[in-house]
Amino acid sequence: MAILPIITFPDKILRKKARKIKTIDSSIKRLSYDMVDTMNDAGGIGLAANQVGVLKRLIVVQLPEEEPRIYVNPEIIYREGSRMVEEGCLSVPGFIGTVERSIWVKFRALNLESKTVRIKADSLLAQVLEHEVDHLNGILYMDHLEDHEKLRPISSEEYSSTIRPDQGSNLNDDLAKFHTHSQSEIQPS
Ligand SMILES: [Zn+2]
Repeated sequence: MAILPIITFPDKILRKKARKIKTIDSSIKRLSYDMVDTMNDAGGIGLAANQVGVLKRLIVVQLPEEEPRIYVNPEIIYREGSRMVEEGCLSVPGFIGTVERSIWVKFRALNLESKTVRIKADSLLAQVLEHEVDHLNGILYMDHLEDHEKLRPISSEEYSSTIRPDQGSNLNDDLAKFHTHSQSEIQPS
């Protein structure tokens, strides 16, 4: 297990499309475990392989109070509705923005045993899945900002009261500790 460096904007790898994984071998398994460690270390709840410099279609997600989820070749196969949500990203540390996301999605992926997983997700899980699959297609959440909206620097008050798919804890150590140790107090927006 290892903590991997997280690539930050404007690194070009974040704009590249990740490639489909053909074989789930030991290197993919090791990468996914390292990504879970990296996500947890950063206090995030999702991470895509591009964010650690690997252009493969692999994401990890861990919602508060849940076990980590590892998804290979994930796809959003249906989306419905729209809602505005606060969002941030480990690769864009220190900022948040309000973006449009679906009310709910149908999602399909492989797990590490090469079994197909199908989920119907809403609220926070839907938001994270859309955010992470976007990463694999080279899309960052600020691409969804309306023209009149801007990324804004995150304040400590907002940091403790809003949900972000993979907003990191790079702001400072105190915030990192707060975020890591008080997940149960975070309510999905
Ligand atoms: Zn992100």
